[in-house]
Amino acid sequence: MDMVLDRPVLVLNRFWQPVQTCSARRAVKLLCLGHAQVVETEGEERFRTHDLDSWVEASVAAVAGELIHSVRLAMRVPRIIVLALYDKLPRLEVRFTRRNVFLRDKFTCQYCEKVLPEPELNLDHVMPRDKGGRTTWENIVTSCVRCNTRKANKLPHEANMFPRRKPVAPRWRPMFGLREQGRPDESWRHFLDPDPKAVRMSA
Ligand SMILES: [Zn+2]
Repeated sequence: MDMVLDRPVLVLNRFWQPVQTCSARRAVKLLCLGHAQVVETEGEERFRTHDLDSWVEASVAAVAGELIHSVRLAMRVPRIIVLALYDKLPRLEVRFTRRNVFLRDKFTCQYCEKVLPEPELNLDHVMPRDKGGRTTWENIVTSCVRCNTRKANKLPHEANMFPRRKPVAPRWRPMFGLREQGRPDESWRHFLDPDPKAVRMSA
C-alpha cells in the first residue's frame, strides 16, 4: 500500500506540459482538493481527464494491486495528473549526487571537453576545498582524471583552467533523477521529451 503511494506520477501544467513528478500520495491529495485532474490514457494519442468523482467511478474495473483504499473510497493509482489552477508547482530540486553532476555535464570533462564513461570521470572543485570551495552544484564540475590531477588544488586562474560552462543547479526535468527508480511509466511517453544524449551516455 505504501509502495503504491510512493509511485511517481507525472505532473502536467494546465498547458499539458510536464513540469515535474510527484508521489501518488500527493497526486491523490491534489485530486481530492480539486487542484488537479487525473489524465487517463487511451492508446497513444487519446486522453481523458477525470475529477475525483469520475476517477473513483472509472476505477471500478481496476485490478486489486492498482487500487488505493481510504476510509471513504477506493481509486486507481493515477499515472498522470494535470493541474487545474497553477501553471506550475514549486520547483523540485534535483538531488546533488555524483551521477547527477555527470548527467548535468553530459559526461563531459568541463576542462578538456572529452566525453568519457562514468568510471573515468571525477568531480572537481572549481574553487578548491582547502581555499574554502564548497561541495555544491555551483562549485562542482565533471572532470576527467587527467584534468583533475593537473588542476589539483589550484584556483582556475592559477591553473589557467576554467570550466567550459558555468556550473549551476540543473533545472528539474521529469526524467532527471528518476533513473534509480526504474523506467518512467509507459503512459508518460507522449509527454516526455527525453534527452537522447543523456540516455545514450548512460547506457
Ligand atoms: Zn579533461
